[in-house]
Amino acid sequence: MTPFTYRDGGLHAEDVPLSRIADQVGTPVYVYSQSAIEAAYDRFAGALEAELGAARTLVCYAMKANSNVGVLAALAARGAGADIVSEGELLRALAAGVPADKIVYPGVGKTRHEIAAALKAGIHQFNAESLPELELIDAVARALGVRAPVALRINPDVDAKTHHKISTGRAEDKFGIDADALPEVVERLRALDAVDLKGLAVHIGSQITEQAPFRQAYTRTAELYRWLQDAGWPVDRIDLGGGLGIVYRDEPAPDVEGYARLVRETVAETTDARLAFEPGRHLVGNAGVLVTRTLYLKQGRVRPILVVDAAMNDLIRPALYEAWHELKPVARGAGADELTQMDVVGPVCESADTFARARPLPAMRAGDLLAFFSAGAYGAVMASGYNSRLPVPEVMVQGERFAIVRRRPSFQEVLSSEQVPGWLGRPADAAPDRAPPDTPVAGDPAASAGTRKTG
Ligand SMILES: *Cc1c(COP(=O)(O)O)cnc(C)c1O
Repeated sequence: MTPFTYRDGGLHAEDVPLSRIADQVGTPVYVYSQSAIEAAYDRFAGALEAELGAARTLVCYAMKANSNVGVLAALAARGAGADIVSEGELLRALAAGVPADKIVYPGVGKTRHEIAAALKAGIHQFNAESLPELELIDAVARALGVRAPVALRINPDVDAKTHHKISTGRAEDKFGIDADALPEVVERLRALDAVDLKGLAVHIGSQITEQAPFRQAYTRTAELYRWLQDAGWPVDRIDLGGGLGIVYRDEPAPDVEGYARLVRETVAETTDARLAFEPGRHLVGNAGVLVTRTLYLKQGRVRPILVVDAAMNDLIRPALYEAWHELKPVARGAGADELTQMDVVGPVCESADTFARARPLPAMRAGDLLAFFSAGAYGAVMASGYNSRLPVPEVMVQGERFAIVRRRPSFQEVLSSEQVPGWLGRPADAAPDRAPPDTPVAGDPAASAGTRKTG
């Protein structure tokens, strides 16, 4: 189900025309469908609860995929917990209403301060990734006079068969504790009084579209769990991570029910563990689009080049992962089926700021709107301020309504956190005391870029 469909010749998010959002909020802008997020969550959690039972299933949304508080609040209202990777994510999750006892915390580089914050909040568990981390968790917990619930994230040495930059379960990857070193690590745990070993965790990568890597990793994890029990450790849980993919282009549709069956066969039937899951991309990826406005159609030497007002700093996936995003014009006019191959690029001064090459698109003119599909995960969260471009705003749609869930700040707000060192003096023009020109020039489509409303 996609919530982004054409009606009356215009692309809508649920019942709201994307052109209306673009006009009111400006472009580029991320737009999320609340119903699509809820539908993805309900299907995922529902399939697992059907196979494993609700009492045994905990779904902790991996919020690094999209940590907007509006998105989090929608998922928290459905009963989702959160998978956090920093103190910032902890604070966001709590602010959005995720109960602390449904929060799991993986990550190879937790700081002392972050560990203390999570202990004080009373999270469900740390997924510890190394012995030195366990020693620090123990020390911090002892200093606070609390006990730390911990699952050991193991590295099962499984190739997830995904893009190498999002593969996390191979022996050479930085994540987890080498499965072969587990006996040694748990032996050292005996001396760490404030650490409560609760179970195991595993996460082998992202955008996984085959079942075999999951089967391999989960089978191995269940074996190690039984080994721990046989060794007398009172473990009661396994966190199976995230990684289930989505369709960007022509990938096989993710088989949620098949995944749930696989979990039952590999882990639920072979252990007594309660099971946690950390889906990120799968819940939000197809629930978002990035809407951009065309600035220029430039005649390139090889083919036409469409310059749009979104750039790699707003959506880095094509530059970072060679990712492919479906592109559709927001207005579908008469010549919708006459396609020309074009390159689609952003304004940033890098050749990597190229969203698509030789993409067949209908005739586009300056000022036309274009939507990047499947931009709900690893989109806005990975945005940067490169080229001093403003943070991209985010909008959430529900039915006929929409709300700005993250506004675009002004240049003054962004500049206000910087200062010229005192020894350089304070040049009069270092801190602008007047707003940059704010009025779009009538008839100039380029003026609709950035913060400008186009009204
Ligand atoms: C990134 C990450 C996830 C989520 O991955 P998705 O592919 O978005 O589901 C889950 N667990 C951990 C430990 C992660 O690092």
